Amino acid sequence: MSQMDRVVIIGAGLAGLAAARRLKAAGYDVLVLDKGRRIGGRISTRRADGYLFNHGAQFVTARSTEFSEICLSAEQTGKMALWDIGRKAPCFSGTPDMRGLAEMLGDGLNIIQQCEISDIAVIDAQFQLTDTKAQHYQARHLLVTSPAPQTARLVRPLSDEAASIAEQARYHPCWTVMAGFATPCDGLDQIASLSGGHIASATAERARPGASGLTQSLTLQANEAFSAEWLEAPDTDSIIRMLMAEFGRISELTLPEADYLSAHRWRYAKVEQPVDAQSKRLFDVGAASGYLGIAGDWHPVSADIRPATGQRAEEAFLSGHSLAEALISTR
Ligand SMILES: Cc1cc2nc3c(=O)[nH]c(=O)nc-3n(C[C@H](O)[C@H](O)[C@H](O)COP(=O)(O)OP(=O)(O)OC[C@H]3O[C@@H](n4cnc5c(N)ncnc54)[C@H](O)[C@@H]3O)c2cc1C
Repeated sequence: MSQMDRVVIIGAGLAGLAAARRLKAAGYDVLVLDKGRRIGGRISTRRADGYLFNHGAQFVTARSTEFSEICLSAEQTGKMALWDIGRKAPCFSGTPDMRGLAEMLGDGLNIIQQCEISDIAVIDAQFQLTDTKAQHYQARHLLVTSPAPQTARLVRPLSDEAASIAEQARYHPCWTVMAGFATPCDGLDQIASLSGGHIASATAERARPGASGLTQSLTLQANEAFSAEWLEAPDTDSIIRMLMAEFGRISELTLPEADYLSAHRWRYAKVEQPVDAQSKRLFDVGAASGYLGIAGDWHPVSADIRPATGQRAEEAFLSGHSLAEALISTR
């Protein structure tokens, strides 16, 4: 493998990790750069004050062969387990942290976290990336897997076509509330993926497989209408108050006072409008010797015969995987 086959991938979410694994297996020299503190993007787990919250994706479904293999391997290594929450497709949860899936996918990859790319140029036929700490990274090929609005901004100086494709996608926001309880709460641990009123999903983290040792905690995700209406709320206290009250109403539980309370605003949570299914993924950028590629849940690949919606992590994984296949086929 020549040094010229270095690929830099922006994003260590499922799309970036899927692409990185496939390219590494094909012999490319792969470097993944991610602005987050931890691997996984929206497959995310927060630990705070002795509590655990899966505040991004609640579970993953596996319909395709590629992603089913990944989930089965996560199951065999104890990172995930089947979780029966009454859905048709097999649902897998982390045991209990969802981020375990991303950690498994990232194992053996060269990944730099807390590296936010702010500028990209082509210099001497190579992509040159600059992060917010003024560090530079060079590569022959560049794959960008950040959410669509961020991707559009990053790739605009390289390719109007790629940026215009990314600009077609739209996201729903999501307000998430996390509550931890030092005083035991009867009935809470049976709550899994409960919905109603403003709440799209309420889950007691102890309801997950492998989670019985956790301290009692609750993760609430608001529905799209509520999240859009309150997206720019100046303080999180009112969001917490409204969603905790709504949970009390739909669950009919009397909660003790929470020992830990926090809210997280996902500006880009689930895809509302993916890009057209026929849109290009790989671009020949004039001055560069290699290719620019784009992937992510907003440029999804369907897991079965139904059209992709971009609403499931599996489709983000398949998007990254198929971008890697496209790059390999240019050799
Ligand atoms: C609240 C919520 C609930 C969800 N529930 C489910 C569910 O139950 N089931 C399901 O299947 N899916 C669910 N999803 C959707 C699923 O999480 C996503 O579709 C999937 O994880 C997206 O993966 P991705 O790799 O495309 O993007 P991401 O996971 O967003 O990864 C993109 C990465 O790019 C990085 N990045 C962005 N800009 C830069 C930059 N300039 N420089 C460096 N790095 C950068 C980010 O740090 C991030 O890690 C949910 C999502 C949310 C937010």
